[in-house]
Amino acid sequence: MIVCKFGGTSVASAEQIQKVANIVKSNPARKIVAVSAPGKRSSDDIKVTDLLIDLSNAALNNDDIEQKLQKVVTRYQAIADGLALDYAICDVIAEDLRERLQGDKSNEELFIDNLKASGEDNNAKLIAAYFNSIDMPARYVSPKEGLVVNDLPERTFALPEAYSNLAPLKDTKEIIVFPGFFGYTKAGILRTFDRGGSDITGSILAAAVEAELYENFTDVDCVFSANPKVVNDPVEIKEITYREMRELSYAGFSVFHDEALMPVYKIGVPVNIKNTNNPSAPGTRIVPNRPATGRPVTGISADSGFSTLYVSKYLMNREVGFGRKLLQILEDENISYEHTPSGLDDISVIMRSNQLTVENEARILARVKNELSADDVQMRHGFSMIVIVGEGMRNNTGLAARAATAISKTGANIEMINQGSSEVSLVFGVLQEFENQILQALYGEFFAHVQA
Ligand code: ASP
Repeated sequence: MIVCKFGGTSVASAEQIQKVANIVKSNPARKIVAVSAPGKRSSDDIKVTDLLIDLSNAALNNDDIEQKLQKVVTRYQAIADGLALDYAICDVIAEDLRERLQGDKSNEELFIDNLKASGEDNNAKLIAAYFNSIDMPARYVSPKEGLVVNDLPERTFALPEAYSNLAPLKDTKEIIVFPGFFGYTKAGILRTFDRGGSDITGSILAAAVEAELYENFTDVDCVFSANPKVVNDPVEIKEITYREMRELSYAGFSVFHDEALMPVYKIGVPVNIKNTNNPSAPGTRIVPNRPATGRPVTGISADSGFSTLYVSKYLMNREVGFGRKLLQILEDENISYEHTPSGLDDISVIMRSNQLTVENEARILARVKNELSADDVQMRHGFSMIVIVGEGMRNNTGLAARAATAISKTGANIEMINQGSSEVSLVFGVLQEFENQILQALYGEFFAHVQA
């Protein structure tokens, strides 16, 4: 059995949904289909999820919602029209939205979640209806039937029982159409995953039914070894390990949600990233292990928006519990960190800048200074992380030197270097303005002579 997930652009219009039907029909093993909400039809279009967020904010502010609601319904109408479906389906969608808008507003996050999730929920119902109308027996299945998630306040994740609850779906006769992006707590409260979270739903389903393959359909032929918007014509990645993909998706490889790897990784279901607009292209396979290619580096990614908390104190290395106390201060502010490179007398904690505010930054600096009696404390912003990833890096000497030399030619200073303990990644912290130049330089160093 194959579980496939179709992303927003793959289900954005009637024409796209017809392609989805053809893909599903062409292989009888494709029995479970997870779908996103209708995404962008062109680069200047708006995703239904964003229209829904706008609608829920208007409702929370007691603004007029009618026009915003109609915008959402019109998107479904255009799809229903193009698929020759009964218009009654759009009345049902409008009714559903009005009901959600009447929901409890006391917790704004949950109110917005409930509206956001309607994008995938209604799309799944519509797509199941379409499959049935063209003689592809299909059934919409709600995440209520087993996709149990945790309670607030942590970010949403599937509880272990979700997998056993959903396992019986493997015996389905019809094609199951399952909405991505959300689940229900044990108390029946709807919660959404992170943005792009339909990838996670597909992965949970693939793990639950122990699928032979999880196909993730999107709008590109494959994952590239570097961002094609920055590097000219980068090499296509045909096969990549879970570990490599995880390291790359942490910094900017947005084709596949980084949280989506965990469920399939645990039981070893391979993932195939494919293009709905070009389904015969082989795509990129994410696998537990792959044969060595002779090339140490598989991909290079880069992401901006990092800050670093620099702390120095003489004899820090002798002070028992210094690191724990420092990280506790961040934990108290509900901040997660990415790396902690350190020297004998100093340490930097690198975190995503979007977690910081003027207020929490001031609190952190004051506490580190006072409670840890630090000699120097500084918060610096505007960093990018450049990550070089490859299973082959472990058995290759001189790689860091090659990378550092390539970076030095751009004139940029390396602010931080971190080699993961698994030795499949090497991270460089640099000032944001050098990011693209460095990515190009590193690509030139490690891929220039590689045939695509
Ligand atoms: N529709 C949601 C989003 O735009 C989830 C998804 O498409 O995966 O983030």
